[in-house]
Amino acid sequence: MAISIPEIKKKIECFPKKNLIPLPTPLQKLENLSLALGGPEIYIKRDDLTGVAFGGNKSRKLEFIIQDVLNKNADVIITWAGVQSNWCLQTAAVARKFGIKAILILFKLYDLPEEYDGNLLLDYILDADVRIREAEGGKVLKLEDVQDVIEEVQNEVKELGQTPYIAPIGGSMKGGSMEKPLGAIGYVNACAELLEQTEELGLEINYILHASGSGGTQAGLAVGAKALREEIKVLGISVSDYKKSYGEDVLAIAQDTVRTLGIDIEIEKEDIIIFDEYIKEGYGILNKEVTEAIRFVAVKEGIFLDPVYTGKAMAALIDLINKGYFNKEDIIVFFHTGGTPALFPNKNQLVNFLKS
Ligand SMILES: *Cc1c(COP(=O)(O)O)cnc(C)c1O
Repeated sequence: MAISIPEIKKKIECFPKKNLIPLPTPLQKLENLSLALGGPEIYIKRDDLTGVAFGGNKSRKLEFIIQDVLNKNADVIITWAGVQSNWCLQTAAVARKFGIKAILILFKLYDLPEEYDGNLLLDYILDADVRIREAEGGKVLKLEDVQDVIEEVQNEVKELGQTPYIAPIGGSMKGGSMEKPLGAIGYVNACAELLEQTEELGLEINYILHASGSGGTQAGLAVGAKALREEIKVLGISVSDYKKSYGEDVLAIAQDTVRTLGIDIEIEKEDIIIFDEYIKEGYGILNKEVTEAIRFVAVKEGIFLDPVYTGKAMAALIDLINKGYFNKEDIIVFFHTGGTPALFPNKNQLVNFLKS
């Protein structure tokens, strides 16, 4: 049974948030790109224009998470991710705005020059407390992978008489100080917002496609789509983890989101559609297809994608169109989830691929 948009918005309003973003973010038709690809009609949802730091999907999550931090009277947020993390930058920017200190534990996940560039430069300008660590085994996605370091930093904060809030990577999986899937709730909200926009334009969309990393975005969109318009398929382009285990993680977040919101739908395995064949060389590692996708969208539309997430998702969209995955009449919404500061630390690889 489908739920109406006002009904789901009412459920979401039970979870207080700070308003940080000028909403709705724009929904634009990519006329030139659609024409050039000769396939379905492509729209772009501009969640890169959230207005927090350089924008991106983590802003929507943080609207809910920062309220939870304030409710818990915490004065330090501790979080972790890769060195060029968009999540960590956005978290630091929001924290600073509310007078809260941000401690960012940044793991070296892949080779990038260790200089103040991209998000790391912005973290530095924000005067975030940055701790750079080696990623043992390259795995830092889950709380259990980083438990020791987090505990060490948490104790340090407590010894100073301050109250820490442990925010899980990406704001996706509950854990640490976050007991509810607040990030995913932000993306159920985004789905409702998108469907209000498409309704107003008289558009019947068939697919939502986006880059998927820690799962909150996909879980939220999948729950929103299933609840509001079951026929819309949400396609998550994984940038780091393989379908088998990542699918279970996303499903768990989605089911938790349904329970938390108290909506009467059932999310099943089939609702979580993940493509993992575009991970290619690994998380954050550029390839020619991604570089070409970034240039293509820039040249056709004057919009910049990023090398780690949205560039990969666009390379996937182009490949799927070329393989005939979609019908010509289909309407697809591509979520621009931000991440553009990562273009700069990847400049050498980008230029090399563009020249070759
Ligand atoms: C974090 C991030 C994603 C993935 O979102 P998740 O909710 O972590 O899956 C996609 N794009 C960009 C630019 C991001 O920073």
